[in-house]
Amino acid sequence: MKEITQMYTDMGISPAVYAYGQQAIARLKDRFDAIDQIAEYNQAKVLAAFRKNRVSAACFATSTGYGYNDEGRDKLEQVYADVFHTEAALVRPHITCGTHALTIALSANLLPGDELLSPVGLPYDTLQEVIGIRPSPCSLAEYGVSYRQVELLENGGFDWDGIRSAIHEKTKLITIQRSKGYATRPTFSVSQIGELIAFCKSIKPDVLVMVDNCYGEFVETIEPSDVGADMIVGSLIKNPGGGLASSGGYIAGTRACIDRCAYRLSAPGLGQEVGANFGLMGQLYQGFFLSPTVTASAEKGAIFAANLYEPLGFKCVPNATESRHDIIQAVELGSEEGMIAFCKGIQAAAPVDSFATPIPGDMPGYDSQVIMAAGAFVQGSTMELSADGPIRPPYAVYFQGGLTWYHAKLGILMSLQKMVDAGLVDLK
Ligand SMILES: *Cc1c(COP(=O)(O)O)cnc(C)c1O
Repeated sequence: MKEITQMYTDMGISPAVYAYGQQAIARLKDRFDAIDQIAEYNQAKVLAAFRKNRVSAACFATSTGYGYNDEGRDKLEQVYADVFHTEAALVRPHITCGTHALTIALSANLLPGDELLSPVGLPYDTLQEVIGIRPSPCSLAEYGVSYRQVELLENGGFDWDGIRSAIHEKTKLITIQRSKGYATRPTFSVSQIGELIAFCKSIKPDVLVMVDNCYGEFVETIEPSDVGADMIVGSLIKNPGGGLASSGGYIAGTRACIDRCAYRLSAPGLGQEVGANFGLMGQLYQGFFLSPTVTASAEKGAIFAANLYEPLGFKCVPNATESRHDIIQAVELGSEEGMIAFCKGIQAAAPVDSFATPIPGDMPGYDSQVIMAAGAFVQGSTMELSADGPIRPPYAVYFQGGLTWYHAKLGILMSLQKMVDAGLVDLK
């Protein structure tokens, strides 16, 4: 039998890079144990919901046409609602991505004359066109929904005074993005989000709060819906799809909000009653079931990356030691060449398209060129090992995913190898 180091060498990862990785892992045992405990808790939470709802093989049956009386679809939505402790949930393969799910939640619950407030600075790139911050046909702005934003403080904290004065009688909905997205601010913990929600509701009790939960599901034992959010929203090709869902999004929240979301997604009067499942129920259930452990694998990969790159002088957000609230790791590589080398490594370690070479290009919804590395079973799935980032200072690569911890480890080591090969890193 070959030694494990030989397996790595055969794939192009030098003994020096492998040894450097092993040193980092030796320091991470306690943190990995803590992640495993959260995964264990969340696994029990998900299983309990499956048991309570008596999920059976019949739930995986295909429905067609209108999809009336689709028991599998209805039960899956109840499983999500139970796991997230909400009255209702809308979980559909027809929701094309996270941006679509967020668009449904916003446009269903905001009417002309209402104002939307972001108390956490600029939202995720693709939402800027949805809201109309960057003018776009069919934006909320075009429909007469105004928008206001309060910046975060220098230290990443909430500007309580600014938020208080930004809330007024027209403020209908407050949007809070849990994860940093393509910004280099910290990701918020669920308890921080809870504080912010309580503060906003103390000023205006009937204001609705939506949390963009993308990349945050199952990283902690509680979710924003446990601390007062009226809606939490995410993509099934991120955490809750567990790498198996081939498409879809979810919105979980109050009955009143979810009813409106369903009317927006299908049609007024039809709502949640329609929507064929196209035979996708098996993978949506199974992906949700696997999500706690897949999320844990991805989180370990993110922590490993920070502990590999930070000692080499690259700024990491979160840094090597701070606590985690999502699965994204930003590594500031300082140059376009660094971003390309890093992404080449991730691509070369992919199970699909390992032979491809990532190059920067234009992407709909983004205002600068973007580089992406992904060789995924599900196209664009960022639950699978992937890296991407806009080509603009500080030249940060956002690294995420990993269906298994060992794959995440291998991909990150391969990225370091490409940096070494390009002369951008010297391990000495
Ligand atoms: C990924 C993401 C989105 C949008 O999701 P897509 O599926 O790419 O449309 C929105 N917000 C955040 C924070 C995200 O990470």
